[in-house]
Amino acid sequence: MRCELCPRRCGVDRAVSRGFCGLDSEMLIARIAPHLWEEPPISGSRGTGTGAVFFSGCTLRCAYCQNGDISHRNQGQPFSPRQLSDALRRLTDLGVVSISFITATPFVPQLLEALELWRPPLPLVWNSSGYELPETLRRLEGVIDVYLPDLKHWSPAMGKLCAGAPDYFDVASRALTEMCRQTGTPVYDAEGVMTRGTLVRHLILPGLTGESMKLLTWVRDTLPPGTPVSLMRQYIPCNGVSIPGLDRRVTEREYERVRAHMAALELPGYLQEPDSADRDFVPVFNQPESFV
Ligand code: SF4
Repeated sequence: MRCELCPRRCGVDRAVSRGFCGLDSEMLIARIAPHLWEEPPISGSRGTGTGAVFFSGCTLRCAYCQNGDISHRNQGQPFSPRQLSDALRRLTDLGVVSISFITATPFVPQLLEALELWRPPLPLVWNSSGYELPETLRRLEGVIDVYLPDLKHWSPAMGKLCAGAPDYFDVASRALTEMCRQTGTPVYDAEGVMTRGTLVRHLILPGLTGESMKLLTWVRDTLPPGTPVSLMRQYIPCNGVSIPGLDRRVTEREYERVRAHMAALELPGYLQEPDSADRDFVPVFNQPESFV
């Protein structure tokens, strides 16, 4: 079957050939484990975290990705839908408050097959770059409870420079609109865990506060009222990034400028601690201890 799961629309048969993501038709996963460091509505407050499934590969491949070993170099282990289903049971038995599927777009058919075998009785979270096709997202309708998309670049120039995707904002804005259509305004349980909704993540990039402010204004003007934003400041130059200007961290002044804009827009959401900008927060991938 010709693969058109993401906006790259390679049209290749992944059983015999590879497209932009470099993945064949076998599902590859680099980590399945509880993860404590997502936003409070995703990780909860019990200390058990979300059950995170990190899929190998990425359809965006940002030059500065902190998970380059899996997003650019596709490290991971092969999993059948049955094996993934069994792992989801083990994760659930550990008491996690939700299950997060991270960059799963190239494996939507296999993931849906796993969830048909057994659906965890927890909120299911779709964590993605935001670079998604509405028709692929519609296949997830009624299955995914919470969308956790990034919203990365405003200008075609930055989308092209960082990910070879000058259409990033066009595509992501349609994708986020579709996600919100499916989920509506956020719903939380008694412990503050999001059981339904869309939570938008934005990572501030050095020297690009103007882009951040335009994106936040778009969220306020376009998405349903109450849609929360997670404002992230933890950018660190990773993956050997060589783009001029992206070789440093975000300054306190830059962060404060964007944070003040978010406050002026009265956008609800979450702010990241300054000490989260550390490579120690990158999980261990593709090692025996990476899998439950
Ligand atoms: S999932 Fe991979 S092969 Fe399929 S369209 Fe996207 S980049 Fe191309």
